[in-house]
Amino acid sequence: MTYDYIVLGAGITGLTLLKKLREKGYNNILGLEAEKEAGGLCRTFYVEGHACDIGGHFFQTKYPDVEEFVFSHFPKEKMYQINPRISKITLNGIDIDYPLEANIWQLPIKEQIEFLISVIRNGEALGKPEPKNYEEWIRWKLGDKICDEYLIPYNNKLWGVPSNEMDIDWLHKIPRIEVEEILKDSLERTQDVEKYPAHIRPYYPKSGGYGRVIEAIAKDINPFIKFSTKVNKLRYDENEQAWIVNEEFIAKNVINTTPWPDLYEAMGRPAEIREHISKIKYNKLVISLFETDENPTPYHWRYIPDPKEQHHREFFISNFAKDSKNYGTFTETNANRFDADHLTFKGRNLFNYETPAAYPLPLIGKTKAITAILDYFKPKHLYGVGRWGEHQHHNHDVCMKHALDFVAGL
Ligand SMILES: Cc1cc2nc3c(=O)[nH]c(=O)nc-3n(C[C@H](O)[C@H](O)[C@H](O)COP(=O)(O)OP(=O)(O)OC[C@H]3O[C@@H](n4cnc5c(N)ncnc54)[C@H](O)[C@@H]3O)c2cc1C
Repeated sequence: MTYDYIVLGAGITGLTLLKKLREKGYNNILGLEAEKEAGGLCRTFYVEGHACDIGGHFFQTKYPDVEEFVFSHFPKEKMYQINPRISKITLNGIDIDYPLEANIWQLPIKEQIEFLISVIRNGEALGKPEPKNYEEWIRWKLGDKICDEYLIPYNNKLWGVPSNEMDIDWLHKIPRIEVEEILKDSLERTQDVEKYPAHIRPYYPKSGGYGRVIEAIAKDINPFIKFSTKVNKLRYDENEQAWIVNEEFIAKNVINTTPWPDLYEAMGRPAEIREHISKIKYNKLVISLFETDENPTPYHWRYIPDPKEQHHREFFISNFAKDSKNYGTFTETNANRFDADHLTFKGRNLFNYETPAAYPLPLIGKTKAITAILDYFKPKHLYGVGRWGEHQHHNHDVCMKHALDFVAGL
């Protein structure tokens, strides 16, 4: 049988695609998923009473159709709104609100002065031209001190690549604060929370972890997915004008939601995209669950730029997952830094999970490369959608939005 569409991967992007394809009248569709269940990065592991999400996951979106999609599967009444979220950065032993630029006034006076002088003397203020790599750009925009003490060590820990190899085309993801605003916040000793942090009032399930939302979305589409089926071979049959997956499944159209470097291997390393694929890289994280004797903080999460600590973020589960066992914390650590024998979070380590792929790396040249790859395969009806399909650092609501738009555009 020849499928109309095969969707590779059943994370939130694959699930949304499959559901919308069905709604559009395509019954001859198939999802192929390596894991034994759907959800990908949006799943939750339940370990000894703790709801351990694969990294922090909360729902807030600017897209009404995505909100409608989510709440039509998982009613709003089954969620509550975190209001507002509390996220901190630990800097030299002091916890200050995120983002640092807006909260310099929370530091001791001596440090405030050093940070503010550095901000005022930034490259932009001195009229220097706008740089093209991430490290030079943040130094130009925010001054050396914020970069040396926070952004560069934090980003090195998270991404695992030097900041000067990273592009600036993902900076819409982080708050953009002008010097005047930094000074105003410091003098007024306040910040405009509506303006700065994204996801200031996100939704979270009243019961269980974030994975509950995805389970509800997956429920009636699961029968169209083959689980425990890793795509390890993909080839195009010119005569049939169809794709053959794992020498078993045939489709006129394939939508990829899995990392392109892995698919490149499955396709036998086609020379036509070799140069571009070298710019497409991703990292892996280890999610570690800990239990402590008391609540470590009243926050939802905390950023840890200190290079001496292995992990870069901590999530205080019992402060947001209402029926999770008390005093669970999960941390996120770049897999290359992870050393199970020398964990730096103080608590009983109950569980560690390494993601197969966590963040697409925003390397210089990556956007051009993924555009070229997608353009190359589009005439052959192989498409890419979502975090991996588009190789972009999308949040899960953006993945859903792009999946909704993709199917609407057919
Ligand atoms: C640490 C972390 C924190 C995050 N926090 C947030 C947040 O707070 N809010 C937010 O909106 N977003 C957040 N995100 C982003 C969000 O998780 C992703 O954007 C979204 O889950 C991506 O969905 P996806 O379906 O595109 O990819 P994935 O969830 O990665 O799904 C891809 C699927 O493909 C499968 N697969 C891979 N290779 C193969 C293969 N060869 N064959 C078959 N199947 C395969 C995988 O098993 C997986 O199920 C976070 C991400 C991370 C890593």
